[in-house]
Amino acid sequence: MGRHTDPVEQMLRYHLRDRGIIDERVLRAMAQVPREEFVPSSLRAEAYADHPLPLAQGQTISQPFIVALTLQAAALEPSDTVLDVGTGSGYAAAVASLLAETVVTIERFDSLAQSAEETLQRLGYSNVLSVVGDGSRGCPEHAPYDAIVSAAAAENVPDAWRTQLAPRGRIVAPVGGTWGQRLRVLRADGSKEKDLGGVRFVPLISDESVGPPHDA
Ligand code: SAH
Repeated sequence: MGRHTDPVEQMLRYHLRDRGIIDERVLRAMAQVPREEFVPSSLRAEAYADHPLPLAQGQTISQPFIVALTLQAAALEPSDTVLDVGTGSGYAAAVASLLAETVVTIERFDSLAQSAEETLQRLGYSNVLSVVGDGSRGCPEHAPYDAIVSAAAAENVPDAWRTQLAPRGRIVAPVGGTWGQRLRVLRADGSKEKDLGGVRFVPLISDESVGPPHDA
C-alpha cells in the first residue's frame, strides 16, 4: 500500500497533524498502537476512521483525534503515573502507556474491563493496571496521579480527582451534560483552566446515582 492510502498514515496526517496534534511523542504512540485490535472484529476495516466506534454495553471507543488531543493536553512525562477513567476497549490506556510509566485504568463494567485487560496483556502493554470500579471516586489505592484523563463526561469534575492529583498534576476531562460537553484542562496548582472545545462523550455514571452496573 502506498504511503498516502495507508489508514494509519492518513490518520496521522489528516486527522491528527492537520488539526493541531503536534506532540511528536503522542503522534508516535498513536502510530504504534494497533487500533484494530481494540475495536469489535466486525468494524476492523473502520478502525482508523475519523469517528468513534461502538463497543459492548452501549459504550464507544473515542475518535482517534480526541484521544490524541486529550493525551497531548495531559503533557505526559515518561516517569508519570496516569489515571485513565473509562477503560472501554483499553485503547486510550494503551496509547497512554507508551507515554507514561504507569497507567491505572478504571472501568465500571466488569465485562469491558476484562476484555480490555485481555487485549492489553496479549499485546504486551504491561505497565497498564486494570481496575473495575467507580472512577468518579478516582482510584485512591494508586494515587497520587500526575495526570487524570477521562473518557466519560461529568457535570462537574469530581472532588476525588482533585484530591488524588500530584502537586503538578493535570486533569483532562469532558465537562457538561449528556448532549454536549467542553473538553477541559485543569491544573492542581489552580492556574487558569483551558478549554479545548466542544466534544461529546458518554456520561460518567457513579454507583451513587444508579447503583453498581449489571453487565448485559
Ligand atoms: N477510553 C475508552 C473509551 C471508553 S468510553 C477507549 O479507548 O475505548 C467511556 C467508558 O467510561 C465506558 O466504557 C463507560 O462504561 C465508562 N464509565 C462511565 N462511567 C464510569 C465510572 N463512573 N467509572 C468507570 N468507568 C466509567
